[in-house]
Amino acid sequence: PGTVAGMIAEFVEHVEGGPASGELRRARAGGAFGGRLVVVTGAGSGIGRATARAFAAHGAEVVCADIDIDAAKRVADGIARDLRITAHGVQVDVANADDMEDFSRNIISEYGVPDIVVNNAGIAVAGAFLDHTLDDWRRTIDVNLWGVVHGCRLFGAAMAERGQGGHIVNVASLAAFAPSQVLPAYSTSKAAVKMLSDCLRAELAGHGIGVSAICPGFVSTGIASHATYTKDSLREDAVRGLARRGYPPERVAAHILRAVHRNQALVPVNAEGKIGYALSRISPRA
Ligand code: NAD
Repeated sequence: PGTVAGMIAEFVEHVEGGPASGELRRARAGGAFGGRLVVVTGAGSGIGRATARAFAAHGAEVVCADIDIDAAKRVADGIARDLRITAHGVQVDVANADDMEDFSRNIISEYGVPDIVVNNAGIAVAGAFLDHTLDDWRRTIDVNLWGVVHGCRLFGAAMAERGQGGHIVNVASLAAFAPSQVLPAYSTSKAAVKMLSDCLRAELAGHGIGVSAICPGFVSTGIASHATYTKDSLREDAVRGLARRGYPPERVAAHILRAVHRNQALVPVNAEGKIGYALSRISPRA
C-alpha cells in the first residue's frame, strides 16, 4: 500500500481472491517475527495450519511439518503464494524417535536452529475407558506425549547449545484439567504435556528459552473427524459439537503468538467453551 507495487499486488490479490489484505500487509511489513525461523508440527490442518500462517503473516520463515506430506506442502505453498514468505512443507511422524531425530537434524542443517517450535501435532481417541484398547492408549501417548517430548528434547537442546534463547510452545488442552468420561487417554496425555511444559519452563529459563502450554477448549478443526471412536455413535455428536461450540483456529493461533511475545506459561483459550458440559453430552451412556 502506498507504493505502485503495493497497489498492484493488492489489486491482483483482490482479483484473484487472495488472502485477507491485513494478513498480507503485515507479512510485507516484516512484522514482529521477521527474521525468525518457526517450526510447527501438525501444520497440515486446523490449529497448526492457522499458527504457521499467523507466524508467516508476522514475517517469520516457517517449517510446516506434518505426517501428511501433501497437507504440509499445501499449507507451505499457500503461505509462499499468499504472503510471499519462505515456507517449507516437511514430512515427519512426531511419535517416531528416529524420524524426529532426522527431522530436527535436517531442519537445523538446512535452515538453522529454529527460534520458535510449536509442538502441536495431536490425535484423539474418544470413548469410555473400558472401551479403550491398549493400542488406543499407545497411539494417543505416542503422538500426544512422546511427540512433544521428542520436539522439546531435540530442539530444546539445539536452542540451549546455540545460546541465543528461543521459545517452545506445547499445545495441550483444557482436557488436561477437566476429567472426561469420553477422553481418558487424550486427557491423560494432555495433563502430562502441561506438567512437562511446567518442568521444562523452569529448567530452560536459565538458557533464555521460554516454554508455554496452550490449553484450548473446543476449536473448530478436523480433529473430531480425524479422531478414532470406540463407538460409531459418538462420532456425529463430536463433529457437530465441535463445529457448534468451537473457536476458529485463527483465534488460537493469535493466542499462541501472544504467548511467545509475552512469554506466558499457561494460556487457557475458549475456557468458556464449557468443555465439561459439552463432553458430557457425548458420553457413551447418553
Ligand atoms: P487436526 O486434526 O485438524 O490437525 C492435527 C494435525 O496433526 C493433522 O494435520 C495431522 O495430520 C497431524 N498429525 C497427526 N498425527 C501426527 C504425527 N504422528 N506426526 C505429525 N503430524 C501428525 O486437529 P487440531 O484440532 O488442529 O489439533 C492440533 C492440536 O490442538 C492437537 O494437539 C490437539 O490435541 C489440540 N487441541 C485441539 C482442540 C480442538 O478442539 N480442536 C482443543 C484442544 C487442544
